[in-house]
Amino acid sequence: MSQESLETVVHQQAQKAKINLLGFSTSRLYDFFDGIGEKRFRATQIIKWIHQEGQCDFSKMTNLSKDLRSKLADIAEIKLPEVVSCQDSIDGTRKWLIRVDGGSCIEMVYIPERERGTLCVSSQIGCALDCSFCATGKQGFNRDLTAAEIIGQLWIAADSFDQFTPKAKRRVSNVVMMGMGEPLMNFDNVVDAMSIMLEDNAYGLSKRRVTLSTSGVVPQLDKLADVSDVSLAISLHAPNDELRNQLVPINRKYPLAQFIASAQNYIEKMPDNRRKVTVEYTLMDQINDRSIHARELAVLLKDLPCKINLIPFNSFPGSDYKTVTKTALSRFRDILMAEGYTVTVRTTRGDDIAAACGQLAGEVNDRTKRQARYKKRLDETQPINIIG
Ligand code: SF4
Repeated sequence: MSQESLETVVHQQAQKAKINLLGFSTSRLYDFFDGIGEKRFRATQIIKWIHQEGQCDFSKMTNLSKDLRSKLADIAEIKLPEVVSCQDSIDGTRKWLIRVDGGSCIEMVYIPERERGTLCVSSQIGCALDCSFCATGKQGFNRDLTAAEIIGQLWIAADSFDQFTPKAKRRVSNVVMMGMGEPLMNFDNVVDAMSIMLEDNAYGLSKRRVTLSTSGVVPQLDKLADVSDVSLAISLHAPNDELRNQLVPINRKYPLAQFIASAQNYIEKMPDNRRKVTVEYTLMDQINDRSIHARELAVLLKDLPCKINLIPFNSFPGSDYKTVTKTALSRFRDILMAEGYTVTVRTTRGDDIAAACGQLAGEVNDRTKRQARYKKRLDETQPINIIG
């Protein structure tokens, strides 16, 4: 085949690429239907089919005319990421390994509790921020997930619990953007996906039940305050800049004072002034778990309406840290409670399937050299088994 005709074939193939409607919010669907000369009310019908009925086949969308169904099938698709595996922990936690375009895999986790079921959703393949205590950071970074790949995680979990049918075994009642990646580094896609989570014609989750967690990308957090009012969690992990610079490197760019001020600004803009920021603090033995750290934290947060969630560190292969002792954890919690804070301690869930907080790794086709360096270090520190 000549070079010219090859280019023609490639061009024709590219022209044929279908538009994936899975990650389209109603407003994007309006634009889509405007663009193909159809009425806007079709947007509501489609979003309900996909996210309330769990239907991804246009031919089965019975309230659309046959012509429209066939037109949609020609130009669009509803394409989900692929589930590679699904593991259940002895405590009921479920972890999925999900392949996305390009071959990398991400992980998501469902944590059942008596009153609710929380889905921890990933926003990126790997993470560029490289927090020193996080397994995801060690995998390097590939790319941002698309809105379809983010909302597709919720669709997959809902489908696995028969949530699209009257015989639902369980429900996803809460979503936390706390899986792999820093959500605010993938701003537009995360905002689009969260809007589908909240939308009445889709999942209809309350804004109190959708939480975005950030490590402190301050300009994007300021921007989020203008377009969203979901619940906010801030991943602090240290009460002063010196220590936080080591644990959460983005702190060197946006120090604590800026981060706290931005979080304050976020909740002040919320229509419901009773809302509080959740402060996430992972406790590591002899690193950030001393009494002086608890007292410093109490001072740091004194003007921020917040509740504090203490997370005993969950180890992973090659991690440099150990988890907090029970004594240090109680002491840390008591100091904060004595200062008037509401403090919860996160129970470790899904540890046996590496699904606990900070343990998600996936399979990242790393575009940085970080994963290779991490693996080399793991190899160097592995004990050598001599059989003889
Ligand atoms: S803790 Fe969050 S921001 Fe930090 S490396 Fe892990 S995924 Fe990225």
